[in-house]
Amino acid sequence: MPVKSMKNGIELSEDPIISQMSSMGHDQILFCSDNDTGLKAIIAIHDTTLGPALGGTRMWSYSNELEALHDVLRLSRSMTYKNAISNLALGGGKAVIIGDSKTMKSEALFRRFGRFVDSLAGNYITAEDVGISPEDMVWVSKETKHVVGLPGKSGDPSPVTAYGTYMGMKACAKLRYGSDSLNGKKVVVQGVGHVGAYLVEYLSKEGAQIFISDIHEESVKHVSQKYKAIPIDPLDIYDVDMDIYAPCALGGTINDDTIAKLKCSIVAGAANNQLRNEEIHGKALLDKQIIYAPDFAVNAGGVINCFSEVEGLTSAWALEKAKDIYDTIFKIVKRSEEEQIPSHLIAMKMAEEKINAAHKSLH
Ligand code: NAD
Repeated sequence: MPVKSMKNGIELSEDPIISQMSSMGHDQILFCSDNDTGLKAIIAIHDTTLGPALGGTRMWSYSNELEALHDVLRLSRSMTYKNAISNLALGGGKAVIIGDSKTMKSEALFRRFGRFVDSLAGNYITAEDVGISPEDMVWVSKETKHVVGLPGKSGDPSPVTAYGTYMGMKACAKLRYGSDSLNGKKVVVQGVGHVGAYLVEYLSKEGAQIFISDIHEESVKHVSQKYKAIPIDPLDIYDVDMDIYAPCALGGTINDDTIAKLKCSIVAGAANNQLRNEEIHGKALLDKQIIYAPDFAVNAGGVINCFSEVEGLTSAWALEKAKDIYDTIFKIVKRSEEEQIPSHLIAMKMAEEKINAAHKSLH
């Protein structure tokens, strides 16, 4: 039996790589190495049934290559689900650059990465992700046209992500309270960075009672003053008596400790990978009768924004398309309640159904 190693409580498979690809359904992995620039990267294409694989590039100081491989396999598969559930003509892919984003960046490194992206001839379209700025993507774009999120193009995706998250939250409210109005609802927004601050704006316009927390004091001060939101200490956040919890900072905040404390009836926020353990914590929320808007479906506004750039569509189109997240989340959560299956599994099933139907029509 292959040995398994652990990282942050996640089991890293040491199975042979093609076996891992096959068990997760990946099409292709490109390992990239360049001694002159120090580039070490992995590009994973999960599925291209619905269109070219689109997903951002993450730059991170992984402690080893296995951890980077695990991350890119998992993230690229999520992009397939996210794009399919959002009815975008896109497949799923992702890239990781192994290294410190504060010290290792150079034009040469990103241009070399761009040439690797270009070698995939449009099967993979890249964008920004954690550790990458629009300026880095400008370097990438000197070597390939298969890149989105460039300055002056579709721009910051956060407003569209926030709008989609707000729509998804309303759909959850409709199912739980019989009305999608958030007026008077106690909503806790964790993290008031790019997405969280825009989300607070939507909630404020609707008359929600907003609580915010952030480890960055300036952001708390600014947002609480602008929208009359009530600041809470990041450590006290799970003890607040709330209707809706909106994680908009880190992943993994839905776990054994927090589920035991959470008094909300809905979890709907923009953060990626909210369930610390997908197998355990989605079910735990269902058992506690807390509605969960699956992260990859509710935060799809960002990729919708990227898609608008791929297709040469306007930002008004992207915002309008993000409205569909209401119906998508409504269908997912309704089916989850009817079938008593965790909502993230229902969302994955619905995405697979779309991909399988497209696959059949191709063959
Ligand atoms: P951001 O970095 O602008 O904001 C995150 C905020 O969370 C920061 O203000 C940070 O200080 C705060 N934070 C960090 N740790 C915290 C803690 N323990 N408690 C409270 N606050 C904490 O990031 P963003 O672009 O707003 O994205 C937020 C989340 O949404 C991320 O998980 C991101 O992956 C996800 N997401 C973003 C987009 C997008 O369009 N930006 C799209 C899809 C998903």
